[in-house]
Amino acid sequence: MKLAILSESPADEAALRVLVEGVLGHPFQFLPPAFRSRGWPSVAQVMPAVIRHLHFATDAAGLVVVVDSDDSVVHTAEHDRPEYFHPQCRLCQLRAIFRQTSKRLPPAHGREHLLRCIGVAVPAIEAWYLCGRDDSVREAAWVEGQARGTLPYTRAELKLRVYGTDRPSLPYEIDCALREVARHRPDTRRLEYDFPGFAALAADLRQWKPGN
Ligand SMILES: [Zn+2]
Repeated sequence: MKLAILSESPADEAALRVLVEGVLGHPFQFLPPAFRSRGWPSVAQVMPAVIRHLHFATDAAGLVVVVDSDDSVVHTAEHDRPEYFHPQCRLCQLRAIFRQTSKRLPPAHGREHLLRCIGVAVPAIEAWYLCGRDDSVREAAWVEGQARGTLPYTRAELKLRVYGTDRPSLPYEIDCALREVARHRPDTRRLEYDFPGFAALAADLRQWKPGN
């Protein structure tokens, strides 16, 4: 099975390859992304074109999309109600774009549509990197902080804790990201437990059966 990854940077993409393989327990072939994006809202804007390209021009089975939540509304089980959609939640927004784009496409390459796999890192992917290393960094801590109006940490602080600087070079950022996700590669359960935005991604991945 071949997968493509759409994320906010090449460093995120390198880390996500490892995490996807960690969830599914075996290596994958990853297609080079045909479109580059840089941050939000660029990912959401290029996503329809990426889906159409992968659907018609490749034999990719699925598309993995991951963005940072930044200061947006964090997805909750409430949003999973049928026909519900929170307009300020990036997980809801990305799922809606995926659904709306896919439903207009005729079958191609022996498949009805690409498999959807979407995650949101709260508040940024560096929080996932710190999981298991810094117990104060959890999605629930961020959500509680948003409700209180006092955030437990800033995105710049998370970057500082991972990279030692909030402006790492790209090669150094990739090295650090790969070092941290290597810890989760053998077992992603802690990351799923502490970060429901990652658990959503893992649940989508596990719906895929070999032969899809
Ligand atoms: Zn949502």
